Amino acid sequence: MKNDNATPPPTNFIRNIIEKNLADNLYQHKKWSGKPGPEIEHAKAPEDTARIRTRFPPEPNGYLHFGHAKSIILNFNLAEDYQGRCHLRFDDTNPEKESEEYVNSIIDSVRWLGYEFQDEKENNLYFASDYFDYMYEAAVVLIKADLAYVDKQTPEEIRLNRGTLTEPGKDSPFRNQSVEDNLTLFEAMKQGKYADGEMVLRAKINMASPNINLRDPAIYRIRHVTHHNSGDKWCIYPMYTFAHPIEDALEKITHSICTLEFEDQRPFYDWVLKKLADAGFLAKPLPKQHEFSRLNLTHVVLSKRKLIQLVDEGHVHGWDDPRMPTLVGAKRRGYPPSGFKLFMDRIGVSKADSVIDYQVFEDAMREVLNHECDRRIAVLNPLKLVIHNFPENHIELCEVPNHPQDSERGSRQVKLTKELWIEKEDFEVNPPPKFFRLFPGNQVRLRYGFVIECTGYETDDQGKVIKVLCDYLPDTKSGTPGSDAVKVKGNIHWVSAQFSTSVVIRNYDRLFHSDNPNDAENFLDDINQNSIQMSEAVCEEHITQASIGDQFQFERHGYYIVDPESSTEQMIFNRTATLRDIWQK
Ligand code: ATP
Ligand code: MG
Repeated sequence: MKNDNATPPPTNFIRNIIEKNLADNLYQHKKWSGKPGPEIEHAKAPEDTARIRTRFPPEPNGYLHFGHAKSIILNFNLAEDYQGRCHLRFDDTNPEKESEEYVNSIIDSVRWLGYEFQDEKENNLYFASDYFDYMYEAAVVLIKADLAYVDKQTPEEIRLNRGTLTEPGKDSPFRNQSVEDNLTLFEAMKQGKYADGEMVLRAKINMASPNINLRDPAIYRIRHVTHHNSGDKWCIYPMYTFAHPIEDALEKITHSICTLEFEDQRPFYDWVLKKLADAGFLAKPLPKQHEFSRLNLTHVVLSKRKLIQLVDEGHVHGWDDPRMPTLVGAKRRGYPPSGFKLFMDRIGVSKADSVIDYQVFEDAMREVLNHECDRRIAVLNPLKLVIHNFPENHIELCEVPNHPQDSERGSRQVKLTKELWIEKEDFEVNPPPKFFRLFPGNQVRLRYGFVIECTGYETDDQGKVIKVLCDYLPDTKSGTPGSDAVKVKGNIHWVSAQFSTSVVIRNYDRLFHSDNPNDAENFLDDINQNSIQMSEAVCEEHITQASIGDQFQFERHGYYIVDPESSTEQMIFNRTATLRDIWQK
């Protein structure tokens, strides 16, 4: 389902800001050399053909989750809608927790959502670690402007002297060191002459600022570790809050969109850029940071730390377990990318913190799946039905539409035979009131086939029903003239016992019981131990033509996707969603 005609995307405060900026011609003459760099690289370049530039900047320290999807969809859609560009930038300035495996999976997931950052004109895949030389240069620019100093206080002293929310901090004894001394010390830090934590480079702003983030924040620290991209070239690394504005500026980002927890950092973001622009290292217009509220969903944890714990401690079967709120999990579960986009359109973008009901998420998925999925017939709890008056080897072909509302999807022929499988719950020996399906003496329609009348049943030694007996009414086949002469209230689905195939079904449910598992003392105590249920089902024979990743609606049951662990001998189906919300609180 493409959102290609009618409905324009719902507006939000970020769109309003962009529209105003464009109306004010704020970015009209900005330049772009074709690759990231400081002002000297862009100065002689032509004007940027992209009207705005946004970015999605994940840290490659885990797999992407549903929250990241909100940021990806927001940033890439803005670029698309305002004739701009969106960069995929790995914020890999922290050497300790990052890896290649995460980088590759993140690239795959962004593409899976339907976004591209590389084409014949531009290749906007970037690594912040490629900018380490520029960041070092930027730090030197600040030192030379007497706006940064090397502090030899211990981490403990720095912490104590930072002050509190009610008390100002105290100036470091190294704060007025000469520019020459700072340059020499910073160079020595880079040369590896000092141990981790022995000194840091700090911005010189104001130790009495009411915003603690402006009390001379650290901008470079010593870490003798190998980096996944730059190897052992560096033993000093920029702090995230210093690196991020510089990354944005080097890439000529216009709108740097992030989540609300960075609001308090915005003054420092602006400070870094302004000082570097004043010194001629960067050019105006500078990037501007805008914050929106992060996605929270009931019954879901969206923190990388917790997701890593779920995987490492074996509470789930890996990052792509269909119960995980990761994008690799969503793919395997069968949540379609267009469902994510519809969902994000519905919840909107704002600054108000909220927790969205999981049902809103699933409803968006169902809506898309209802359009996108062909129907198939599966019996999940099989009970044998024998049509007594049906000729022994006769095969009656029944025409079954692939989609009830979309005739262009065509139809297929399903074989009706003497022995069928029906759902156990479609038969009752002693029917409760308003039960319109099969019971002795009652008539129902075999969907797309004949009307049948139940004539009896057989039980095993324990009295369990093992077979239902019936007769069919020959002139009642669906789609034939006069077929509706016999009126029935029930309509049940079936598959031929002879022409069907047995498949494995994995029914998934919420991974956490409570609305907000993050509220529990230990979120692991809230895990739903019944979040996966396996069973065997019988499916119409056409299902054997399906490939991994194909999705169907099993009529009357829900949406199912062929799992990658399927083989031609054993097909495995994951339930994406039921047809309606059935979650019990
Ligand atoms: P987590 O808190 O789960 O570890 P993170 O914010 O550390 O996530 P990053 O890799 O730094 O993860 O995030 C990349 C981008 O995705 C950032 O711009 C971040 O603001 C955004 N993002 C992360 N989580 C959410 C969320 N729940 N809703 C919206 N955007 C998010
Ligand atoms: Mg982060």
